[in-house]
Amino acid sequence: MKLTRRTFLKDAGLLLASLGLEPSLLPRMADALEDMAGGRAPILWLQGLSCSGCSVSLLNSESPGPADLITRYLSLYFHQTLSAATGAAAKDAVETAIAKGGYILVVEGAVPLGIKEACKFADENFSEQLLRAARAAQAVVCTGTCAAFGGVPAAPPNLTGAAGVGAALKQAGLARPLINLPGCPTHPAWLVGTLMQVLKSGLPDLDDQQRPTRFYGHLLHEQCPLFAQYQKKHFAQALGEEGCLFKMGCQGVVTQADCSLRGWNGGVNWCVRGRSICIGCARPEFALDPQFAFFRLNENDLY
Ligand code: SF4
Ligand code: SF4
Repeated sequence: MKLTRRTFLKDAGLLLASLGLEPSLLPRMADALEDMAGGRAPILWLQGLSCSGCSVSLLNSESPGPADLITRYLSLYFHQTLSAATGAAAKDAVETAIAKGGYILVVEGAVPLGIKEACKFADENFSEQLLRAARAAQAVVCTGTCAAFGGVPAAPPNLTGAAGVGAALKQAGLARPLINLPGCPTHPAWLVGTLMQVLKSGLPDLDDQQRPTRFYGHLLHEQCPLFAQYQKKHFAQALGEEGCLFKMGCQGVVTQADCSLRGWNGGVNWCVRGRSICIGCARPEFALDPQFAFFRLNENDLY
């Protein structure tokens, strides 16, 4: 189907609304969508130690929706989960992209810096492929807490020495424009909005953890609908009880993300509204605390 300026403006309007941006940005956003649809904004998506959850989350994108996003807008050179290419064809697609350069490199998953062979693409360790791809990229976007800060793969005892992309680039002495979009998974609006911003205006405003302040600028707790109950000290003491979930271990008090305003799955629900605590999945420290409530094997059980 031929895309018209009207289509770009309509989709840009939906996107602005979902991102809570000013209407004055409409022409610029429509231009960004047009660039993406015209293949002028290529994206190379690489996966390290990950569960592919951030890819699945991207498919929950609302505006543009997943079909439009993939077929019209994302000029994906390669994506391990979505691309049809396998084997030699997949390797060629990545090599072609790296040779051309100038793409936005989206990385999903952590980098094994200890046992480098723990993650390979074709015959190359992911940690080395990542450095080659980052060198040729206009910017590196880390989607998910694993790519940003290590996340679940870096949970103690972290046998592979998993770390975030920023740490891997730093260890190699490679400075690249880097954006961290933590979340387990990343909200699709955080990723789509960031890609648009990079395409049209360059790097967004970032905090000291390289996170866009637009999405991560506030404590979730301060914008939580239960904040008033927290202030009145009306706490739930058990699942199913009314009140703020602080005493149940809610991490909203230390988590910077806009889930409490944006919601998930098209704004239908989010963790606290579903009466579950926020487990702080967007925190840099997520899963790194040895006390974090994971099921853990004893080292002896591994062999
Ligand atoms: S439920 Fe969590 S995020 Fe909401 S007010 Fe209570 S402690 Fe804060
Ligand atoms: S509310 Fe907390 S646990 Fe839920 S998605 Fe947001 S940051 Fe993650």
